[in-house]
Amino acid sequence: MKSILVIGGGLVGAACALRLQAAGVQVTLIDPGDKRRGASYGNAGHIGSEQVAPWSAWGNVLRAPRSSFGAGGPLDFRWSDVALWTPWSMEFLRACDPVRFERGREALIELLADSLPAWHRIAELAGAPELVIPHGHATAWMTERGAADGLAAFAAAKWGRTTSYREMTSAELARYGDVLNRLPTAAVIFSGTGQVSDPQGARDAILASFAERGGELVVGSVVRVEANARVMLADGSVREADAVLVCAGPWSRALMEQLGVRAPLIGERGYHLQSSETNWPHDLPTTVFEENFIAVSRFTSGLRCTSFVEFGSPDAPGDQRKWRRLRQRIDELGIRFEANPDRWVGSRPSLPDFMPAIGRSERAPKVLYAFGHAHLGLTEAPITAEIIAAIAAEKAPAVDIAPFRIERFG
Ligand SMILES: Cc1cc2nc3c(=O)[nH]c(=O)nc-3n(C[C@H](O)[C@H](O)[C@H](O)COP(=O)(O)OP(=O)(O)OC[C@H]3O[C@@H](n4cnc5c(N)ncnc54)[C@H](O)[C@@H]3O)c2cc1C
Repeated sequence: MKSILVIGGGLVGAACALRLQAAGVQVTLIDPGDKRRGASYGNAGHIGSEQVAPWSAWGNVLRAPRSSFGAGGPLDFRWSDVALWTPWSMEFLRACDPVRFERGREALIELLADSLPAWHRIAELAGAPELVIPHGHATAWMTERGAADGLAAFAAAKWGRTTSYREMTSAELARYGDVLNRLPTAAVIFSGTGQVSDPQGARDAILASFAERGGELVVGSVVRVEANARVMLADGSVREADAVLVCAGPWSRALMEQLGVRAPLIGERGYHLQSSETNWPHDLPTTVFEENFIAVSRFTSGLRCTSFVEFGSPDAPGDQRKWRRLRQRIDELGIRFEANPDRWVGSRPSLPDFMPAIGRSERAPKVLYAFGHAHLGLTEAPITAEIIAAIAAEKAPAVDIAPFRIERFG
């Protein structure tokens, strides 16, 4: 393959474009250019190599009533999008089958094992090794009960092959005294995980390197994809190449349907508030406050708090109640935050079995795809890009990609 059109410039598309280019392919990246639109902008920046359990698990189904937004939790469904999430939920329930869950976990263990090294490799390639901060991440509990339940659940869980955790010492816990109104009762710190210095900063650096090496960036939206690797943009212009890569996050669904390929993606929407003023130190790693359902991440651009899993359309407006709830959580913990923080909502691109789709279309072999990374798209973008570069070169990827075939959805 000499040339490829990459559709979608989120973290997955940006990483794939740079990797394909480094492998000698002539790459054109097409994206509408609204950087805040996709989850690549607003995520928690965590390189989550430990998250090997697919979310499609019976335990999560049983916990759903307690996790609901009405009960104070993060889970919600947009009623006006009921026609989207009802069929998706049926497929989700089927994916919770314990045999399928276990197969998914094995596949994610393999994919995630090399995810942090792959981040170092792409940051080096982009000439920005400082993008990756491999200082682990923490989960903290504020109550005795939460700590006891949380630590027991952590001890029973399976984590990644390259990650481990330990309880924080009292000296480590004491550091939270500077940024919270009380100390956590307990917390754990992981190794083998990390964060990026800033999610949008990381995407910008990858795209800048791509452009500097002569990559073509086209601002536009693809409205038509054909199996012969010909695409039409909204302005009526047409582009052709030897192949096309569909990596348009949740919007990949409609593009794949044009090719007769089922990709049952949904928008699993998350929210953030970000304060540019903060006293949270750069070396205090991303911390999940489990009982408060928020993740707190220090980026070069400020302090970001993220939460919620709200199923619906990726194009729907945000729900004001979610930002109010997020603010309430921040204030409960006593985190210093500006009065008018940046508010953002965006969609994780989620397939019913919470595994990404990475491969070459069996129906349309000139079409490659990389979407559906759900909660782990930042983590998995560089390793996905290496897999896509191998597929493009007709070499065997380092990871078995059979579990990620889109044809698993029929
Ligand atoms: C609140 C929140 C926190 C998260 N935290 C983490 C985390 O800590 N770690 C982690 O690993 N993951 C995290 N994620 C998930 C992660 O952000 C996503 O999985 C990832 O960003 C998906 O990237 P993507 O490139 O596939 O899609 P997107 O970011 O959605 O990008 C898709 C791009 O395609 C473009 N596009 C759409 N349609 C077209 C078209 N027709 N033509 C051309 N371009 C098109 C879009 O405009 C967009 O720019 C989080 C997500 C959320 C919402």
